[in-house]
Amino acid sequence: MYEDIYVPLGKTGLKVNPIGFGGIPIQRLTFEESDKLLKTALDLGINFFDSSRAYTDSEEKMGRVLSQYPRHKYIIASKTFSRDGKNAAADLETALKYLKTDYIDLYQCHNIAGEEQLQQSLAPGGALEALQNAQKQGKIRFIGVTGHKPPVLMKALKSFDFATVQVPLNYIEQACVPELLPYAKEKGLGIIAMKPVAGSAFKNVPLALRFSLAAGADVVIPGMDAVYQAAENLTALEKPGPLGAEDLAALEEEKKGLEENFCRRCEYCMPCPQGLPISFLHVLRAYFFRYNLQGWAMERAHNLPKSYKDCIECRECVKKCPYELDSPRIFKETREVMSKWTG
Ligand code: SF4
Ligand code: SF4
Repeated sequence: MYEDIYVPLGKTGLKVNPIGFGGIPIQRLTFEESDKLLKTALDLGINFFDSSRAYTDSEEKMGRVLSQYPRHKYIIASKTFSRDGKNAAADLETALKYLKTDYIDLYQCHNIAGEEQLQQSLAPGGALEALQNAQKQGKIRFIGVTGHKPPVLMKALKSFDFATVQVPLNYIEQACVPELLPYAKEKGLGIIAMKPVAGSAFKNVPLALRFSLAAGADVVIPGMDAVYQAAENLTALEKPGPLGAEDLAALEEEKKGLEENFCRRCEYCMPCPQGLPISFLHVLRAYFFRYNLQGWAMERAHNLPKSYKDCIECRECVKKCPYELDSPRIFKETREVMSKWTG
């Protein structure tokens, strides 16, 4: 199944299934559940697995399954948030241990969000120097960069010879399309689309994935947390090429129900010092407002150990969110609406 669809990841020489595996949601699964999901994905031909040192046990969960397969069957991408060389090298060693491998195909500077972080990574003794050393030692094959802000990523690509760039690309987030993608393509970089479903904002997942691929991604990395999603995501490959007018109209219809800024479930804001499951609370809120499942959403919110009412508005999550989403304000409003709804 899907034997002939592997495409080049830029000029790296790596051949990827355009449907990759985003490693954030497996953090929510038990080891047994993630074992089953990862095995299913591999057996269906998915071969690009993206994780990060920042995704708690995601590297460990991937390593225990991937290491059971021949090494050429899969491509591992992981990342470090460290901007200094010492910690970046330490993150890489930890990743190698958890991923149970002696090399990582693609190691990325995770979420370069501004000039300062870029300069820290580029500086002598910075993360990139350490990653280049690791590359010489054969511990990394390629070095990539990830981020949410196309202008910052443009600067990064002009400052260092990255092999890949990872950026949000979906029907709602197309800021990378006019400049970053053409520049990256011209340079022969691999393009990895993160958040292709905008954090579950789109219900027609294969259509959302088709959009990101048609817009220029070599590989999309939807997060998965259920076995059925691996096969469902792969159906996006059944209709390659540009989307028709009807498809675009369907995406536009889904977009209408979304607020200007909303949670993409990336979990960069975690952990909340008060123990709130922030992204899940945003999901429940979406079910309450967008899908008119008020009773369902409120019952689940009520049964959580920590919910909207437990937010102390410390704003730690706002500082860590790449979209600067004002979760404390949103949670306060949600709490007020829910309490009125119950009367
Ligand atoms: S503002 Fe609320 S949700 Fe955000 S980190 Fe603080 S307590 Fe948690
Ligand atoms: S609130 Fe922001 S950081 Fe947290 S999961 Fe949502 S988008 Fe990601």
